[in-house]
Amino acid sequence: MTYSKTIAQIKEINGNRDFTPLHEPCFSGNEKNYLADTIDTTFVSSVGAYVDRFEAEMARYTETAKAVAVVNGTAALQVGMRLAGVSKGTEVLTQALTFVATANAIAYNSARPVFIDVDLDTMGMSPLALSAFLDEFGELREEGCFNKSTGRRIAACVPMHTFGYMCRIDEIVAICDRWKIQVVEDAAEALGSKYKGQSAGSFGQTGAFSFNGNKIITSGGGGTIVSKDAQFAEKAKYLTTTAKVPHRWEYVHDELGYNFRMPNVNAALACAQMERIEEIKSAKKVLLASYQEVFTGESARLKPIPAGTDWNHWLISVELENLEERNRFLQETNDAAVMTRPIWRLISSLPMYEQCQKDSLANSIWLEERIVNIPSSVKV
Ligand SMILES: *Cc1c(COP(=O)(O)O)cnc(C)c1O
Repeated sequence: MTYSKTIAQIKEINGNRDFTPLHEPCFSGNEKNYLADTIDTTFVSSVGAYVDRFEAEMARYTETAKAVAVVNGTAALQVGMRLAGVSKGTEVLTQALTFVATANAIAYNSARPVFIDVDLDTMGMSPLALSAFLDEFGELREEGCFNKSTGRRIAACVPMHTFGYMCRIDEIVAICDRWKIQVVEDAAEALGSKYKGQSAGSFGQTGAFSFNGNKIITSGGGGTIVSKDAQFAEKAKYLTTTAKVPHRWEYVHDELGYNFRMPNVNAALACAQMERIEEIKSAKKVLLASYQEVFTGESARLKPIPAGTDWNHWLISVELENLEERNRFLQETNDAAVMTRPIWRLISSLPMYEQCQKDSLANSIWLEERIVNIPSSVKV
């Protein structure tokens, strides 16, 4: 048996093009107008009306107190973690099944990731695995939670919402509260997703979004830090704008800050894209419905949407029977110019992170061997 019929159907759904990309952006709204406006006004760089407007729009859309636009999602995570107290010699609990940026942002703060397993249905951090790890290795002291096996402080937990599916974030926050661990949500893939009615990114102390070219909407490159607590967001703004003490003309910086501001050119693109987010989500829902009719067999199933998740439909996933089938599906689709991609190699197996502590990662390994993303672009 081959996947030739499935491939023909995927091509048909995506308009029978010579090459079917995995995910491409759609610029049919105000993108060109707003970009031209940044040039006409000369405000292309680190301050400008589109930055302010985008930040206000993001806070409104995610129902948080304040949003801070930054250069990319990795920087958003890095700063969120610094605000949570992640520093040299501390540890951060996260997933092995995630994009490498999650772990890199931990390492940029000179901290070490510890890899916790995910749930099979959400593909995001498992509250059960998190609890089990803390029961075995956690020790609550006055200064916070310590890892008994390494002696290091566990400063933060960074769960991730894989492909916009929501992990059981409410349970994770409750566990972390008990253990005095701050939660920084990696919501890079989850703009527009909700869990039990609440927006991705708004559960943790801070949340990080990405507007890279492959995400559900894009600003070319960009990211955003959001927080329900305006104080953390104010501090994020300050740190990402070189930690400058407000003054009309003096340059005084009283802490090590970063130049992580999102330029106004990128914010212009982001503003235009934000105007279409709901339309994009609706079109993706229709795309998913078309795929329901393709993946009816046993060998390749669409990954069901877990209960409680209002999904943004960013990247649609199928689950193959085993590693061999996964490889065959990847080979045949890519040979036919239908772009498909496997879920990530576990971060715990990369040379930079292979020494880090981890639990069994049984579910992460299971998913690593079976999950493939299929073309998920829409035109609106
Ligand atoms: C895209 C992504 C990031 C990083 O965002 P960039 O804007 O590319 O820096 C971080 N975490 C996850 C899970 C991502 O998918």
